[in-house]
Amino acid sequence: MTIPRVGFISLGCPKALVDSEQIITKLRTEGYEVSPTYQDADLVVVNTCGFIDAAVEESLDSIGEALAENGKVIVTGCLGAREEEIRDRHPQVLSITGAHAADEVVAAIHQHLPPVHNPFTDLVPPQGIKLTPKHYAYLKISEGCNHRCSFCIIPSMRGDLVSRLVDDVLFEAEHLAKAGVKELLIVSQDTSAYGLDLKYQKREWNGQDIDTRFYDLANALGDLGVWIRMHYVYPYPHVDNVIPLMAEGKVLPYLDIPFQHANHRILKLMKRPAAAENNLERILAWRKICPDITIRSTFIAGFPGETDQEFEELLQFLTEAQLDRVGCFAYSPVKGAAANELPNEVPEEVKQERVARFMAHQIEISAARLLKRVGKIETVLIDEVVNEGAVARSKSDAPEIDGQIFIDGATHLKVGDFVDVRLEEADEYDLWGALEM
Ligand code: SF4
Repeated sequence: MTIPRVGFISLGCPKALVDSEQIITKLRTEGYEVSPTYQDADLVVVNTCGFIDAAVEESLDSIGEALAENGKVIVTGCLGAREEEIRDRHPQVLSITGAHAADEVVAAIHQHLPPVHNPFTDLVPPQGIKLTPKHYAYLKISEGCNHRCSFCIIPSMRGDLVSRLVDDVLFEAEHLAKAGVKELLIVSQDTSAYGLDLKYQKREWNGQDIDTRFYDLANALGDLGVWIRMHYVYPYPHVDNVIPLMAEGKVLPYLDIPFQHANHRILKLMKRPAAAENNLERILAWRKICPDITIRSTFIAGFPGETDQEFEELLQFLTEAQLDRVGCFAYSPVKGAAANELPNEVPEEVKQERVARFMAHQIEISAARLLKRVGKIETVLIDEVVNEGAVARSKSDAPEIDGQIFIDGATHLKVGDFVDVRLEEADEYDLWGALEM
């Protein structure tokens, strides 16, 4: 019996990664194997990203490479919504679907590479197949987005908000925790809007009624005894309710809030969710309730029409908000985005200069905030053990995007261990520490 083998290329954000995991889990339950090389694969799936033009190019190149190396290619993911563009460049692709289409992708694979029945391949762990290391996992709670930010085309690719029922999410989270996952990263396009489309439908969980709602979900996840980290939250008033859960230690004191700008006119032009809120006031109030909260954010510099003064306002906001982790991107027009029609495009060299000034300004703030933690004892999660010692993350650091904590010599530790570390040194991004006995 020859086992059918599928190659898999997963591009893009954590939400796309969750889609890939779902497809691979389905395939493994049906007896397919995942091949790490083009040559050993009978067919290749490319899960694409279409967020910015560079990601579109990368996706189209990956499809081209898979076609050249293997020849049988199925395309899915965000870029799949722009089928014509893919067909123009790569007419030989076997099938194209958009994001969050695991069933369609598996159906296409059945058609071009039928499954072979093998009773042993039913032995898939109940938590499914994860592409992240075993000790942390992304948990996708909804798909799509009801907003229409003018620089973004995600809603046209992924559609409006579709939340998963709260008991379904909790069931998966509980399985992951039982399987040894130590940290769950909650992802969606708009985590704070969770449940809105379901009118916060009441469900039953562990014999109790629970609403399909951001607060209720966070509260119930907090009972699982693992780290819960919230990503892509917008500063709506109801987010305030979750901050006490962070102060109590049920949910990590960490919020990933993509503010994108500080000036109200620009935020309105961007059509950002919660654009009318006073973000600074909100951040200060959160810090009063939970002084240890880490706030990560991203911003866009050089949005069409952004004046020098509006950019200065953004720098002033950084000074006052004292955010911990911040990324900044030069505005780049995405094909199909409404912002492309806005007047007064900012010249490329001005955009780049603003990004550089922004980062120089923020690096000082981030470095000063990290320095304040030196001397403290913090619980960290071990991500990797190398020859020189262990590499860990604290409650303030999400994997891949934030900093790390290096513990020299601690080679006896294991990935997934929680240990206490006395922090001894810091630079702009990372910390160094010693095990606290
Ligand atoms: S909130 Fe805005 S940026 Fe985020 S996915 Fe929705 S439309 Fe895009």
